[in-house]
Amino acid sequence: MESGRPVLLTVDDDPGVSRAVARDLRRRYGRLYRIVRAESGPQALEALREIKLRGDPVAVLLADYRMPEMSGLEFLEQAMDLFPNARRALLTAYADTDAAIQAINVIDLDHYLQKPWEPPEEKLYPVVDELVGLWRAAGDEPVTATRVVGHRWSARSHEVRDFLARSSVSYRWLTADEPEGRRLLEAAGLDEASIPLVVTPAGDSLVDPGVEELAARVGLSTTPATDFYDTVIVGGGPAGLGAAVYAASEGLRTVLVEREATGGQAGQSARIENYLGFPDGVSGAQLTDRARRQATRFGAEILTAASVTGLEVRGSSRVVRLGDDGEVAAHTVVLATGVTYRTLDAPGVARLTGRGVFYGSATTEAPACAGQDVYVVGGANSAGQAAVFLSRHARRVTLLVRADGLERSMSHYLIRQIRDTDNIEVRPNTTLAGAAGGEHLERLRLCDIATGTEQEVPAGFLFVFIGASPCTEWLDELVQRDRRGFVLTGPDLLVGGRRPPGWPLDRDPYYLEGSVPGVFAAGDARANSVKRVASAVGEGAMAIQLVHRYLEAP
Ligand SMILES: Cc1cc2nc3c(=O)[nH]c(=O)nc-3n(C[C@H](O)[C@H](O)[C@H](O)COP(=O)(O)OP(=O)(O)OC[C@H]3O[C@@H](n4cnc5c(N)ncnc54)[C@H](O)[C@@H]3O)c2cc1C
Repeated sequence: MESGRPVLLTVDDDPGVSRAVARDLRRRYGRLYRIVRAESGPQALEALREIKLRGDPVAVLLADYRMPEMSGLEFLEQAMDLFPNARRALLTAYADTDAAIQAINVIDLDHYLQKPWEPPEEKLYPVVDELVGLWRAAGDEPVTATRVVGHRWSARSHEVRDFLARSSVSYRWLTADEPEGRRLLEAAGLDEASIPLVVTPAGDSLVDPGVEELAARVGLSTTPATDFYDTVIVGGGPAGLGAAVYAASEGLRTVLVEREATGGQAGQSARIENYLGFPDGVSGAQLTDRARRQATRFGAEILTAASVTGLEVRGSSRVVRLGDDGEVAAHTVVLATGVTYRTLDAPGVARLTGRGVFYGSATTEAPACAGQDVYVVGGANSAGQAAVFLSRHARRVTLLVRADGLERSMSHYLIRQIRDTDNIEVRPNTTLAGAAGGEHLERLRLCDIATGTEQEVPAGFLFVFIGASPCTEWLDELVQRDRRGFVLTGPDLLVGGRRPPGWPLDRDPYYLEGSVPGVFAAGDARANSVKRVASAVGEGAMAIQLVHRYLEAP
């Protein structure tokens, strides 16, 4: 169905009349409005539901009064639930004029028109002109973005919103208990139990979609366009995006595979203040969004919501497994899978995750923290940044730190900012003993390590930043990793000057090359790497230099 223009809908059970009204409307309004016609109330309501899901506006409803299945009044009454701003008119025979006049009060009718309406210039157009004018004045703007209907405290609603935001897909957030949210649920034939509901710009409704379905339906690529590349980059954080920008700009056929949305940990950072070239700091989402667009502009293909689950060597090809049944092959692979947050193991935390307990989602949730008491767990830079960022929204932010201070784990500039911010309190020697709440987080139990005493505090939000482990388990034994799972590269692979077992080439592994020739690692996933955005980007760029060297002479 064509979309975009506001709709004028006419419904009449007499097909001849219905066609004639539609024809007259089209003649005068067809350029700016879409004329939709129906031959019964239920059919017209069905059309309206479809229009609602597509996000198109409805300007005017013109309904015949006498229809067998559903009267014009009944239809208009129900249509008002879907499009309360549409202007309404009844088409009546002379005998029904009284009923129409009464309806003006009952359903807030704007006009009634007597049949026959010819000549339209005198009888129909002046009325419709006025209705359109009234509708325009009320400013019912078209909505063509993706819409998400959910519940504020639903973990799944949060995940869906977070994914869309991190993928730079603009969306409108509606709670299930606000009128517009309810209208969309009704239009899709659903109730509050079916949240989150995602309505795509094409008008399709997706109930609690998985990340792959969501990505595909909002227009993101999830499968490779071809089956062989010069390089496959696994992971879309700063290292992967850095590699993609350099690889694509230097003419390599490049695909980047990201299991969630691009951005990685950096995409979660509220404000990166130490990245070169941004003296006033930059939000991680902004930085990585630009990087993604830059990589795409150079021709890199970016797949999101596509998880890499295995790596295989087939002759000179390096084959990466995607999900359960897909695969993509290349001459080289860059592993840039970074690290993932460690989860907090205290009673109640798992159940309340997404319902007041969040891992690294300070930016998405910050506006909801307005005026609230917020807790942040962790003593490193990521926790410090989150505390500073949240302090601009929350009434009070308490930083829970296991150690006896921040000096050993946090940069000095952040410690200074925290000291200078009145509504941040640091509680050293403190761990979280538990979280409690019904629908969402309500209370935390804090434990003072020095004395062993516990204290219960009211809390609506808890943000956790307690370190991370590498996402490399899928590499199995193929690529050598250290004790903690970080990928060993270059000099780290040489034990006592000897190359790694099975190494087939007559040269040492290049600096960022793993124990399999042509497989490189960059960023946080690499053993002994510096865990910073700048170093991840730098290693991504450097890995591509080494890819060139490998392609010239493996
Ligand atoms: C909240 C926070 C704030 C920070 N602030 C700063 C700062 O101010 N300055 C600074 O320099 N550093 C900061 N850091 C650290 C910095 O963000 C990281 O060092 C950097 O993001 C590492 O980049 P990376 O690309 O190596 O890994 P990541 O950013 O971890 O990205 C890895 C990506 O790979 C994807 N992936 C993992 N496994 C797979 C798989 N199997 N298949 C497909 N994709 C996969 C992940 O989903 C992820 O998107 C911060 C980190 C956090 C968490």
